[in-house]
Amino acid sequence: MVKSSSELHRVALELLDRRGVKLEDIAELVHYLQKPYIKELTFEMCLDHVRSVLLKREVQNTILTGIQLDILTEKGLMEQPLQDIIREDEGLYGIDEILALSIVNVYGSIGFTNYGYIDKVKPGILKKLNSHEGDEVHTFLDDIVGAIAAAAASRLAHDNPEISDIMK
Ligand code: MG
Repeated sequence: MVKSSSELHRVALELLDRRGVKLEDIAELVHYLQKPYIKELTFEMCLDHVRSVLLKREVQNTILTGIQLDILTEKGLMEQPLQDIIREDEGLYGIDEILALSIVNVYGSIGFTNYGYIDKVKPGILKKLNSHEGDEVHTFLDDIVGAIAAAAASRLAHDNPEISDIMK
């Protein structure tokens, strides 16, 4: 049976919260990305765009899938060699980045630049998710959070077409 979008939305938000990611953390990343381009940008505007991105089914599906893989790995339930690859967040794996691209794709090409940039700089919550402290596994979550922020930043740019040329 096809799940309703509102149910997927609820579960996706719950999962993010359970894994220690607040929508405000993602809004902060959007603010970081877009502040240089939009003078009148407020935190509330960023949060609004994050909320809108999370209404998309593609985004919800990616959150459910990626976080599930993190959780199963954390519990040691994946088969080898994938268990070790995901637990160790092996640099050459790359499927975590690819999965998150399905979020970036939703809002077109501006998102790619933001996604690549934020993945390199790792501001705010991304630094925390990447610290590999303790037994927590966030191999998929860090890319998902970066992708949601990049998608929200693209959405903002589309709403402010005068800045979208600068950002390409
Ligand atoms: Mg990753």
